[in-house]
Amino acid sequence: TLPKIFAITPTYARPAQKAELTRLSHLFMLVPNLHWIIVEDSNVTTKLVQNLLIRAGLQNRSTQLNIKTTAEFKLQSKDPNWIKPRGVEQRNLALAWLRSHASPDRHAIVFFMDDDNSYSVELFAEMAKIQPGRVGIWPVGLVGGLMVERPLLNGDNKVVGFNAAWRPERPFPLDMAAFGISIDLFFKYPQAIFSYKVQRGYQESEILRYLTTRDQLQTLANNCRDVLVWHTRTEKTKLNSEEALQRQNKRSDE
Ligand code: UDP
Ligand code: MN
Repeated sequence: TLPKIFAITPTYARPAQKAELTRLSHLFMLVPNLHWIIVEDSNVTTKLVQNLLIRAGLQNRSTQLNIKTTAEFKLQSKDPNWIKPRGVEQRNLALAWLRSHASPDRHAIVFFMDDDNSYSVELFAEMAKIQPGRVGIWPVGLVGGLMVERPLLNGDNKVVGFNAAWRPERPFPLDMAAFGISIDLFFKYPQAIFSYKVQRGYQESEILRYLTTRDQLQTLANNCRDVLVWHTRTEKTKLNSEEALQRQNKRSDE
């Protein structure tokens, strides 16, 4: 039987949230061994997320958590999104939940699944191949200024480097969507969490440095030749006519 895959998704309220989460929920309907840990960047869990999980029939395959990003680190709507790390506290809460609720003895995989990326169903079949004690990696499309950011392999399919153009000096120059982690590593290394005290672009390196080394990485997706996930980003929704419409409706109420 396939190992369970715990997918950790930080998410926050904005006009496109329901559309993004609907896309993901339908992926979960196609991949039965996925368990969704959805962590709302909010002081409360919302009906929007709860109803969405119910509509997709995911009540028994999901965990709804919430933690609001500390004001100091919260991205403002006019900020360029790279000035602050996103999802740090949400991912850490999910890791704490896993460490207290998942069984240390049952093999499972942990994957950090942002809500706006595009995922192929095939990616999860690859992830299921991750061995106990290992971190599996694969290419990611449309990220880091490249069509595909990928590990470079030698003839024995061992990782010898990365093609990253952006900050290639990072210990693990890859995207959050580029790896899955065998859950036993989170029990073996209880101090492994994300941190605000790292440079921009170093979140992936920060978590992986606790868990693995470059030469222990397990290469997947046809020896890192197939692209099964894309770092797509949704344009900020323009609602410039919405206000006028509300005013008009109000007037006709009077
Ligand atoms: N996110 C969040 N709170 C925020 C901003 C982002 O929880 O204030 C979540 C977002 O929903 C996504 C993840 O953090 O699942 C990464 O954010 P985003 O996709 O905006 O980052 P990028 O793709 O630019 O790295
Ligand atoms: Mn994103």
